[in-house]
Amino acid sequence: MTVDLHAEHRPYLAALADGELELVPAPTRDHVSDCDQCRSELEAHQLLGQRLRAASRAAEPVALASRSRRFLLPLAAAAALAIVVGGAVLATRPATPDPLASAVLVANQSPEYTSTNAVDIAHWCTVKYGNRVPVVALPGLTPKGARMDWPHAQGVATVTYALDTETVHVSWLSVAEGGSQPQVVNAGGKPAVLVRRHGITALVSGDATQAELLHVAQEVASVL
Ligand SMILES: [Zn+2]
Repeated sequence: MTVDLHAEHRPYLAALADGELELVPAPTRDHVSDCDQCRSELEAHQLLGQRLRAASRAAEPVALASRSRRFLLPLAAAAALAIVVGGAVLATRPATPDPLASAVLVANQSPEYTSTNAVDIAHWCTVKYGNRVPVVALPGLTPKGARMDWPHAQGVATVTYALDTETVHVSWLSVAEGGSQPQVVNAGGKPAVLVRRHGITALVSGDATQAELLHVAQEVASVL
């Protein structure tokens, strides 16, 4: 049996490349300073980070414009409603949007970044999100890509995988929901599995069976 001595350090290389030293355990920092293989992976992360930052700087004005437009529309609709119904506004105000349902909805869209490399995908998400997204490389799951959305100003970084002919989304949420044991929830009428450990919330959704979603969530929980 071959033991991959570098595997336990690999998830932290993206954070190390971004200079987020507080996220990186001391044994990893020590290992990387002595290990040529990890150092060359680290340099690849740094290069990728520079390219992604340059690309996201170029795309930023468009992203901001579309985000603020989306935000303005409901406000305009609310103003129109206020004029029409006057005193009845409170009663007709829409309920607080369900963050889990919103996350499942955006997760179902096509990836905006396509890759089959779990490390590159996690790094792309981390740069886009501004929060560390762990590397999830699971046996049987083939990474397809990722997307970043901000429904109702809540960050949702979604990594999409193929599981045989089915699709599984692992979404990393900025909302604090769920507990340390994976739990099946109803997200907008569809089953999804929620888990929260060490301040990180993950929501597993897709068209796989509930048992498969639960299994993936257990694997995800084990890397948190
Ligand atoms: Zn190493």
